[in-house]
Amino acid sequence: MATYKAKSIVLKSYRLGEVDKIIKLFSIEHGMISAVAKGAYNFKSRFSGRLELYNVIDCEMSEGKNLDIVSQAEIIEVFNNISSDFYKFGVSQSISEIILKTQSEKSPSEIIFHLLYVVLRQINKCNPQDNTTCKKTLLFFIARFLKIMGYVPLFDSCSICGSKLDDKKAVSDTGNLIFSISYGGMICKTCSGNIAGLLLIEKECAEILINLFSSKIEYIISLRISDKNMGKLTYILEKYFLYHMDTNIESFDYLEKIEK
Ligand SMILES: [Zn+2]
Repeated sequence: MATYKAKSIVLKSYRLGEVDKIIKLFSIEHGMISAVAKGAYNFKSRFSGRLELYNVIDCEMSEGKNLDIVSQAEIIEVFNNISSDFYKFGVSQSISEIILKTQSEKSPSEIIFHLLYVVLRQINKCNPQDNTTCKKTLLFFIARFLKIMGYVPLFDSCSICGSKLDDKKAVSDTGNLIFSISYGGMICKTCSGNIAGLLLIEKECAEILINLFSSKIEYIISLRISDKNMGKLTYILEKYFLYHMDTNIESFDYLEKIEK
């Protein structure tokens, strides 16, 4: 049986039968991996505590017919503040659902692995009840993920006619910027006439949106974002993601429910 090694993050796990555990991992070397850890629920299992959700692990696998088999697992880092905090867990579930639904086996991406690691580490170290920082981290993740997948919105020229957007062209009569999710970015005043579903974004909010796609996580976390802007940015990024990635992320709804 062929064996291989993988540095991975545990994104999902569930019980198989009495004592076995199925895990879904995202790895640097192989992308998604689905594997079974035999006897993981045994009292004295050698995997005890090693295959918990969001653990970063070094593992050795044997290729199986359907599922690969975990033969060894060593912990590199644990993010054990996540599962014990309701909100951190909700945010991390959205992140892992995005990876689980968009990434496939045997298509590794070091840059996505690194992004996943950076955001989980940040969520883990947020102060308890600091939901705002957790939420900023999620918005950062969605924007950067979209950027890696090639879906950065057009910000400096019109998504329909392509003309450069200066202040005069870019703003509506109310002074807000005009954004279209389906066209994939800003729209000039002239083109906005007959388009349905346009979003008007205040300048301050638009600046944060642009930053989410281009600035470092430390900078995003340091930004003051009003509740109103946070709601708007969440709406835009989630809708943009769902439209362009053409997938449903149930955890977005769950997160919205627990925020109320
Ligand atoms: Zn235009």
